[in-house]
Amino acid sequence: MDSEFVYLKPPSLSDLLKHLEPWGEQSKVLAGGTDLLVLLRRHSLSPAYVVDLKGIEELQRLEEVEGGDVFLGAGITVNEAAHSGLVQKRYKAVADAANTLASYQLRNRATVVGNICNASPGADLAGPLLVFDAKVQIVSARGKREVLLQDFFAGVKKTILRPQELVYGLILPAVAAGERSLYLKQARIKGHDLGIVGVAARLDSRKKFHLAMSSVAPTPVRLTRLETLLNDSPWSPELPEQAAEAVREEIRPISDVRASAAYRSHMAGVLVKRAIRYLMEEG
Ligand SMILES: Cc1cc2nc3c(=O)[nH]c(=O)nc-3n(C[C@H](O)[C@H](O)[C@H](O)COP(=O)(O)OP(=O)(O)OC[C@H]3O[C@@H](n4cnc5c(N)ncnc54)[C@H](O)[C@@H]3O)c2cc1C
Repeated sequence: MDSEFVYLKPPSLSDLLKHLEPWGEQSKVLAGGTDLLVLLRRHSLSPAYVVDLKGIEELQRLEEVEGGDVFLGAGITVNEAAHSGLVQKRYKAVADAANTLASYQLRNRATVVGNICNASPGADLAGPLLVFDAKVQIVSARGKREVLLQDFFAGVKKTILRPQELVYGLILPAVAAGERSLYLKQARIKGHDLGIVGVAARLDSRKKFHLAMSSVAPTPVRLTRLETLLNDSPWSPELPEQAAEAVREEIRPISDVRASAAYRSHMAGVLVKRAIRYLMEEG
């Protein structure tokens, strides 16, 4: 039997928040639906209300705001982010990751914010957003709050969002000219699978490295020990290999249907080495 729920597509943010406030835990927000509909079909979730945010104009914005920061609204699809000149130019790792997520057709539905809210340890967009210190703007009928993305994840498929809250959008802090970044992903097959490992790396204008990884911990993680090692070491031809060894010490991946812990750990080192080498050569 199909799941039964009331479907609503409010035309404004205030309408949507008015619905979420009393329904709380009985409701689910629908963005692209590429994660949510799978769960509804499997009966893993049975909300009484499904509230679609796609009718809300103000969530469909991807634009520069004060101070050169970029706002990416909750309605922006993965393909819109991948094709945006602003994202490609300033936050290349985000565009790279967007281009690796699932298939082109799925990326036309899936949203960037949905990828974050789903909170899969393998979420492709999480690592790139972490290395740019993205902030999450959260809204409810009671007000607004903002948290760093690294404080947003609370465990496997868990976030700090309260049931009445909606993610309004993300703020990507301004970057200086000449910054470089990339995202590298190892997956079993191209196009329909979460990664075995995903590495996001950024070299900022002060020549500091920022690194994050997906699929190696219960949540996407910032590699702070590796960052310290890299940023405290003089650049040398051996540095990428040292980084590969260091990351294998820092992470504790698990074995699952996609890969063994040993293979994940090996590939994490390989991808980190490639990423650091690329940034050093280009930087
Ligand atoms: C075949 C297939 C392949 C896939 N491949 C990949 C892949 O390679 N890499 C990858 O990372 N993911 C992959 N995914 C997962 C999925 O496509 C992404 O996570 C996608 O970005 C989710 O976005 P969405 O808009 O569809 O989210 P939805 O399904 O609409 O929502 C996901 C969750 O987030 C909540 N939510 C969404 N928006 C908000 C909001 N603004 N505020 C509060 N809560 C919100 C929903 O209630 C739900 O719990 C794949 C999925 C499928 C079906």
